[in-house]
Amino acid sequence: MVECSLCGREAVVELNYNGFSLCEGCFVRQFERRVRKALRLAGFFKRGARVLVGVSGGKDSAALLSVLAKFNSRVGAVLLPVLVDEGIDGYRNKARVTAEKLCASLDLELNVYSFRDLFGFGLDEVEGLDSARDACAFCGVWRRWVLNKAAVDLHADAVVVGHNADDVGQSFLMNLLRNSSSVLSRSGLESGGVKGLFVPRFKPLAFNLERESAIYCFLRDIPFYLGGCPYYAGFRVGIKDFLNEVEGVYPGSKFALSKASFEVQKALPSDKRRVFKCSKCGFSSSSDVCMACSLRDEVGVLFKKG
Ligand code: SF4
Ligand code: ZN
Repeated sequence: MVECSLCGREAVVELNYNGFSLCEGCFVRQFERRVRKALRLAGFFKRGARVLVGVSGGKDSAALLSVLAKFNSRVGAVLLPVLVDEGIDGYRNKARVTAEKLCASLDLELNVYSFRDLFGFGLDEVEGLDSARDACAFCGVWRRWVLNKAAVDLHADAVVVGHNADDVGQSFLMNLLRNSSSVLSRSGLESGGVKGLFVPRFKPLAFNLERESAIYCFLRDIPFYLGGCPYYAGFRVGIKDFLNEVEGVYPGSKFALSKASFEVQKALPSDKRRVFKCSKCGFSSSSDVCMACSLRDEVGVLFKKG
């Protein structure tokens, strides 16, 4: 029997990055302690706060919602789970069933916002168009926009998403390779809010690895959807594979990279570019029309051509 490095009970998880083996209880406590640390640093999780939780049906958001619901019995915030349905048949509709099951088990109501309702088309229709962009390029921008719209509709004070340390490291590397220093300066634990235009967004799982969300769900019997999106492709996939390979040979690299991301963000001057109000949707934008509205117009033109 392999013993837990912390308490001597039977270990069920081996952590390559620090050489520890942990039993069920010590692993769960470690995972939750790291979430608590992120919440403390972020400071929004308090009595009466309205917190929108982005839920996808996948392991990260399932772990996040479950941890927040557990902590919330003492905190007394209002948790508002929101699922963005991008209109990917055979994927999101299945994940949604799991998300509904999870919310029901936590006695929370799931709010669903769909691309088809908001834009008049889903990602499956967009994917069939003759566009130079891949599906993720549209989807990422629109999901961010939809979550912000939901936050405004639901009067949320904060939005939390299930981005983990793997995601933080990937984004950091992608921004470095694109030389996007202004994005780097905005990509820490929090994406700052702009009053009336953008509800602040936080990543409470930023100190846990993706693999650890899955283990946490397994150990706590939390339902999550295992299938993957059929459109998953592009730059991020290459970076993710690369980082998995590096982590396999040099354990601890992912944490080192995500920490580097936070350090670099702190050291960079904050992004002082002017924030505009989108003339079409009224949310924050870096120019007269926000990216979500520009892409929606671009798709409208492609539909007419088709
Ligand atoms: Fe959207 Fe791409 Fe994620 Fe699929 S993989 S849900 S298309 S961002
Ligand atoms: Zn807009």
